[in-house]
Amino acid sequence: MIVIGAGIIGSAVAWELAAAGARVRVLDMRAPAGGATQASAAMLAPYIEGHGSEALSAVGQRSLQAYDGFIERLASEAGRRPLYDRRGTLEVARDEAHGRRLRASAEALATEGVETTWLEGPSLHAAEPLLGPGAVGALLVPCHGFVGGTDLTEALLIAATARGAVIEDHVRATRVRAGSNGRLVVETTRGAMTADRVVLAGGSWSGQVAVDGADPVPVHPVRGQLLHLAWPEQPLARIVWGADCYLVPWPGGEVLVGATVEDVGFDERATVAGVTGLIEAACALVPRLGDAAFTSVRVGLRPGGIDDLPIVGPSAALPGLIYATAHYRNGVLLAPLTAQLVRGLVMDEPADPALAHLSPARAGAL
Ligand SMILES: Cc1cc2nc3c(=O)[nH]c(=O)nc-3n(C[C@H](O)[C@H](O)[C@H](O)COP(=O)(O)OP(=O)(O)OC[C@H]3O[C@@H](n4cnc5c(N)ncnc54)[C@H](O)[C@@H]3O)c2cc1C
Repeated sequence: MIVIGAGIIGSAVAWELAAAGARVRVLDMRAPAGGATQASAAMLAPYIEGHGSEALSAVGQRSLQAYDGFIERLASEAGRRPLYDRRGTLEVARDEAHGRRLRASAEALATEGVETTWLEGPSLHAAEPLLGPGAVGALLVPCHGFVGGTDLTEALLIAATARGAVIEDHVRATRVRAGSNGRLVVETTRGAMTADRVVLAGGSWSGQVAVDGADPVPVHPVRGQLLHLAWPEQPLARIVWGADCYLVPWPGGEVLVGATVEDVGFDERATVAGVTGLIEAACALVPRLGDAAFTSVRVGLRPGGIDDLPIVGPSAALPGLIYATAHYRNGVLLAPLTAQLVRGLVMDEPADPALAHLSPARAGAL
C-alpha cells in the first residue's frame, strides 16, 4: 500500500491502514505536513462550515463525533497527546439580518439535537466582554473546538511508524499506472515502486500526479494566510468567528487570526494585503487585540475541489487507486472520517453511505 502525501489526510489514512494490518509506505515531496496542513487553523466546526450544505454538515458531524475516540486511541499509540480543545465557538452576527440567519440555523440544529445558545445584550457581553461594538448577537456552539494541525499529523505518523509504516520524505510521485499481476506502479523521483493499492492524498498538488486512463483529478489551490499573535493574558474564552475573520485562542497566550481565501494559483507567499486585512478585521472584532504582538504568518494552499465536499473513493479508471483529496477548508475536521472510509474500501468492508456523496465519479473520468 502506497499513500501519496503526508499531510493530515495521508497521515490519518496511513495510521488507520497500518493499524488495520496493512503494510504502508508514505511518500511526500516535502517534509510531512508541509502543505496546507502546516498553515491550518485546524478548527473542528461543522455547524459553521456546513451552513448551506447538508452533505458537508452531515460528514462534518460524523467526523467531529469520531474525534474524541480518534485522539484517545492516537494518544495511546503515539505516546503523546496532540493539542485538542473543545471549548466551543461564538459565531458573531454583525447586523440584524445576519442575526436572523444564525437564529434560524440554531432552530434547525435544535431539531437535530445539537446544543446551541443564542446570546445578545448582557448575556453576549458576559460570554465575551471583549467583542467590539459591531456585534449584535452571537451563536454559541459548545461542541466545536480545534486541534494542533501539525502536532496531530506528527502524532499520526509516529503511530503509523509504530505499526510498521515507512515514511519517505522529499520523494515526488509523478505517475500511477497498472503493473503486472494486478499491482500498481508508482513512478517517483526515486524510481518506480509497486503496491497492491495506492491512495492519492496529495492535497492541492493531486492533479499533478498522472493516473493512467484517468483525467487529472480537478483540485485547485486556494491560498490561506493565518496570523499568530502573542496575547499573554489570553482572555478569549472561545473561538470567535466574525464575518471577516476568526480568532482561535491557543494555549500559551497565542491567538490565531485567519484566514484569507485567495485564488492565486500555487503562490505560497505571505502578502502585505493579506496580513493587514486580517489585522484590521481582527481589531474590528475584538478591539483590544491592538495590544497583541505580531508573531508570525503561516500560508497554505487549501485543496479546493468541484464543490465543498472532498473526493474520496475508488478510481473507476485504474482499479486499486483510491482518491482522498479536495478537502478544501475542512481537511482537519474530516481526517478521522476520511481515514475510516479509506480503510473500509481497502479492507472490503460494506460500503459506507457517506461515500455516495464523495464519489470521484462526480468530478470527471477518474
Ligand atoms: C489558512 C488555513 C486555515 C485552515 N483552517 C482549517 C480549519 O480550521 N479546519 C479544517 O478542518 N481545515 C482547515 N484548513 C484546511 C486544511 O488545512 C486542509 O483541508 C488540509 O490540510 C488538507 O490536507 P491534505 O493532507 O489533503 O493536504 P496537504 O496538507 O496540502 O498535504 C498534501 C501533501 O502531499 C504532498 N504531495 C503532493 N503531491 C505529491 C506528490 N506528487 N508526491 C509526493 N508528495 C506529494 C505535499 O507535499 C503535502 O505534504 C485550513 C487551511 C488553511 C490554508
